[in-house]
Amino acid sequence: MRTGTNTGATRGSTGELRRRVYRRRRLIAGSVLVLAVAAITVLAVVLTRPAENPPAPTVTLPAPAAVPWRDIGVSSEGRAVKVAVFGEGPQALLVIGGIHGDEYGGVVARAFAKALADDEFRVPSGWAVHVIGSLNPDGEHLGTRANARGVDVNRNLPTDNWSAVLDPEDRSAQEGLTPGSGPASEPEARALVDYLARGFDAVVALHSAGGIIDYDGDVSLETAQAMAELSGFPVEHLSYQGSITGSLGQYVSEKYGVPMITVELEGPELTSEIAAGLLAACR
Ligand SMILES: [Zn+2]
Repeated sequence: MRTGTNTGATRGSTGELRRRVYRRRRLIAGSVLVLAVAAITVLAVVLTRPAENPPAPTVTLPAPAAVPWRDIGVSSEGRAVKVAVFGEGPQALLVIGGIHGDEYGGVVARAFAKALADDEFRVPSGWAVHVIGSLNPDGEHLGTRANARGVDVNRNLPTDNWSAVLDPEDRSAQEGLTPGSGPASEPEARALVDYLARGFDAVVALHSAGGIIDYDGDVSLETAQAMAELSGFPVEHLSYQGSITGSLGQYVSEKYGVPMITVELEGPELTSEIAAGLLAACR
């Protein structure tokens, strides 16, 4: 009985052990299956996931266009007076910057030329826009209104009213500048006179810093109004205009009779409004 019981107990223990082993094997097999599925899933996710930092596509930006400057004269200190031309005629606009070296006209004229070179603004069809970056490069270098010889180039043009003595009301006289030793005595003025002889349908001079658009002669009024509309500067006559002699405004009016506009800028920035206003002179 005891033995039998023992034998039965032994048999019972052996069966229980087998079941435990069997359950453990199933458990292990199940675990291995779960791990395998998990590993395959992770592998699949890793293989199908896009790279976190895909290589950027190669983009070739166009190189900034160079402004096609060419020399049209040279100052008394040997600095070049340069012009750049954009678009094709038959009509032509001349924009002149930097007659007075201590103003913003040169900076804005050169920015305008750069913007045209970069195709930021379109020259109207049928027009060529000529831009003189700095008519008075010595004055810009020195930071003076006059050129290196103390002459206000904008009193040195060969007008009918050119005078060796400036009007006391003229700011240039008050600042001790001279109109030169004779009409177009200065190399900068001669370069401009020669270039104007090519023939232009409108001329715009850039000065500062009044924030207005001034004009010479009735023929210029509609152009001034068109430019004012886009630039945001009002049309206004400068109060001292009657006292000045040998100016570009006077010269272009009496010699060529085409629209002659003086833009008094407010600052050194070329805004899109100012650029549009300048191009409005093509009309
Ligand atoms: Zn000026």
